[in-house]
Amino acid sequence: MYLKSFDIQGFKSFPDKVSLIFGGGLTAVVGPNGSGKSNIAEAAQWVLGEQNPRALRCEKRMEEIIFHGAAHRGPMGFAEVSLLLDNSGGLFPMEQQEVLVTRRLYRSGESEYFLNKTAVRLKDVLELFMDTGLGRDGYCLIGQGRIGEILSDKSGDRRRVFEEASGISRYRHRKEESERKLALAADNLLRIGDKIEELELQVAPLREQAETARTYLRMRDELRGLEINLWLEALQKLRLSHDRVRDNYTDLTAQLEAGKMAVDELYAEAERL
Ligand code: ATP
Repeated sequence: MYLKSFDIQGFKSFPDKVSLIFGGGLTAVVGPNGSGKSNIAEAAQWVLGEQNPRALRCEKRMEEIIFHGAAHRGPMGFAEVSLLLDNSGGLFPMEQQEVLVTRRLYRSGESEYFLNKTAVRLKDVLELFMDTGLGRDGYCLIGQGRIGEILSDKSGDRRRVFEEASGISRYRHRKEESERKLALAADNLLRIGDKIEELELQVAPLREQAETARTYLRMRDELRGLEINLWLEALQKLRLSHDRVRDNYTDLTAQLEAGKMAVDELYAEAERL
């Protein structure tokens, strides 16, 4: 793996943008105590996704890595570090010949990650560098006193360094993720089982209610049919009695006419007499 260049801005003792271009061979950074040599290594650790502020010598919060000002210089609002790695050997599963990884942090706590200038999640950065030795458990960045720490670590902690070197961290990470998902699925299964049991208890009363509803619908249809028949019968009766009354009326009208004529004739007869 070949580190091509490194840009730092606003990170710890580097308020202005500093670009370190690495040639072939070995590069050594020298300087007096407190001049910022360790800050460079920490910037590399940070851009690769370090989440523990203490691992970067901060007291509490990650925002402490942002340049906090000096005698003649005000504080910065953000810190940004970019690392450019060669990918001509195809070490990283990307088409590009170079991998530029960038991390930015604002004083508000808002954090951003980019891979080749495209915004990505922290998870993407961590996964990309897994098993390359540069990852979170990597052995490429070894700070002051870290060798001693690794040697005196518990064997379980030391194992992580060897896992990263032998390229199995990626699988361990995937295994842990699968175990997490499995546990989640088991939880969900348990909840669904409870739900099924709960629903099964409701099935019998619901079946009864459904039967009652079906009976109601059948009886309602029957009632509607009967009511219609009843109305039709009443209508028929009314029609018949209407015809009868109309015939009576016609007869009586004729009788009345005849009566009137008879009266007129009788009057005429009386007149003549
Ligand atoms: P040594 O050789 O003693 O290990 P070094 O060259 O590694 O020193 P560093 O530890 O990298 O030096 O840098 C320490 C310097 O960084 C200190 O002067 C400290 O004030 C400065 N520094 C750390 N954090 C910040 C910050 N947030 N803003 C400004 N300066 C900072």
